[in-house]
Amino acid sequence: MAATVFERDAHARARPQGGTLDLHEESGLLALDRAGLTEAFLKMARYEDQGDRLLDRSGHVHFEYEEAGAGDRPEIDRSALRDILLEALPSQCVRWDSVVCSVSPAGDNTWNVMVGDQSFGSFDLVVGADGAWSCVRPLLSPYKPQYTGLTFIEFGINDIDRRFPVLSKLVGRGKVGILGGGREIIAQRNGHAHVRVYAIFRVPADWASRRFDLTSAASLRTELLREFSDFANEITDLFRAANRQFRRSANPCAAGRS
Ligand SMILES: Cc1cc2nc3c(=O)[nH]c(=O)nc-3n(C[C@H](O)[C@H](O)[C@H](O)COP(=O)(O)OP(=O)(O)OC[C@H]3O[C@@H](n4cnc5c(N)ncnc54)[C@H](O)[C@@H]3O)c2cc1C
Repeated sequence: MAATVFERDAHARARPQGGTLDLHEESGLLALDRAGLTEAFLKMARYEDQGDRLLDRSGHVHFEYEEAGAGDRPEIDRSALRDILLEALPSQCVRWDSVVCSVSPAGDNTWNVMVGDQSFGSFDLVVGADGAWSCVRPLLSPYKPQYTGLTFIEFGINDIDRRFPVLSKLVGRGKVGILGGGREIIAQRNGHAHVRVYAIFRVPADWASRRFDLTSAASLRTELLREFSDFANEITDLFRAANRQFRRSANPCAAGRS
């Protein structure tokens, strides 16, 4: 059956896709199997990065799981997974740079998709996979995403094993969660010695705009060091080692773990 994917990103490399994913047997791995993509996945999968550790803010380890290559939830970088999926599609299937603004009935149980002032269709099935702020979901549900009070600041550390061996050990082969005072830092190992870090804390929705310039890496770094000033220095070194690409996740539905 022919299908069209309308995607907001301008092209496949328009932005980093986010952190590493663990795929499970009954969901992600099953879907790849059904799509005939297991072999391609196995070439990119990181079975060696399934470790998990939980620390408190002083650096004391409360839980640790690390067994090289064991476990049945292999990790893969999102960009690598998306490349695998894209390569398996016919070349004209994805329409890049296409921001869908609405979907409307076109009669006979079919639907039109509006991209800017252009109408596409009619389609007999529309799958709304457009994220938290979906413009398709309102057709099915009146509920809107709400800010739960938790803000995520995301950033990366490059070449961690060579440049920051102490932090590399802190992160281990997988991910580490560091909890304290209703806040958490999660650092997860991605491919190519890159580590992605999330600093999670409770602030009002307009916190950033009230306090400082969100686009400035220097001021975000300073603000994180202030927010987590009661965490051990060996932990907040994660902020000091960060590259300049800080990003605030507008993640209205995050539940957090604290
Ligand atoms: C820190 C963190 C870690 C996570 N770890 C895991 C994990 O290990 N395993 C796991 O399974 N899940 C994980 N998740 C959850 C997972 O990321 C989400 O469940 C998943 O990304 C949701 O997929 P989605 O397709 O609904 O939305 P998205 O991933 O947000 O994708 C939406 C897509 O639609 C596009 N889009 C948006 N609006 C429009 C529009 N109007 N027109 C056209 N295109 C549009 C976007 O550009 C994007 O490509 C994690 C989430 C977070 C925050």
